[in-house]
Amino acid sequence: MIDTHAHIAMDGFEGGTAGVLVRAAAAGIHHVICVGAGADLAEAEGAVAVAQRFSGTSAICGIHPHEAQHVDAALWAAIEQLCAAPEVVAVGETGLDFHYNSSPPADQERVFREHIRLARRLGKPLCIHTRNAEQDTLRIFHEENAREVGGVIHCFSGTRDFALQAVGLGFYVSIPGIVTFKKPGELIETVQAVPLDRLLIETDSPFLAPMPHRGKRNEPMFVAETLKKVAEIRGISLEDASAATTANAQRLFGARLLVRLGETAARATSALPAL
Ligand SMILES: [Zn+2]
Ligand SMILES: [Zn+2]
Repeated sequence: MIDTHAHIAMDGFEGGTAGVLVRAAAAGIHHVICVGAGADLAEAEGAVAVAQRFSGTSAICGIHPHEAQHVDAALWAAIEQLCAAPEVVAVGETGLDFHYNSSPPADQERVFREHIRLARRLGKPLCIHTRNAEQDTLRIFHEENAREVGGVIHCFSGTRDFALQAVGLGFYVSIPGIVTFKKPGELIETVQAVPLDRLLIETDSPFLAPMPHRGKRNEPMFVAETLKKVAEIRGISLEDASAATTANAQRLFGARLLVRLGETAARATSALPAL
């Protein structure tokens, strides 16, 4: 299985990023995508550094909608350059978050459009974060012809209808640990309705640990709980759920995701300081 969205370059993981990856490999995780999308370049650079240092990892780089107000020409030029690196398999996370409105909506929309245009130029998929903004997200997808770009709606927590509309535009839907919670919103219906060849799984570490780890710091090894729940909802075996979601991630993000975590991560721990 593959954790398609984890902020493992952040501080605070036991044993650092190397520790996280050794535990993930031991839990049977095949590959981890490290997301860097902070208010400045540091997180995006951190994600690329992880993907360069540890085999079995890749990066997603951009500026989170929360931080959209900080994007000026210089920061954006640097993000464009980073996103062109071969370790970067998608552009984002970007989109609209009208739940928190940490940045003004107009800034979020402007920066969202820039990410879509960049992803198109680079020929890489988008990683979309959207909350309380489904209609506006779809409007911008249409206006920017995002169908030609494609990508994933990460940490999906919206309506089943929105999931199906996104799938209709060529997007994948990534299921977070929320699906294991007592109140998963419409996630059960969404997992049932989205075609199996469009489902991905993720942790969004260090946030939103799935049951029975809820409240702990989340990390990629816990994606196994989310996969288990997806298999149960779909009425398929764990092996089939794992094979399908892994193949989906490899199809969307490319051949880099064929490279496994494992021995190399274990060797990296002894050879290199934790990031
Ligand atoms: Zn997000
Ligand atoms: Zn995230």
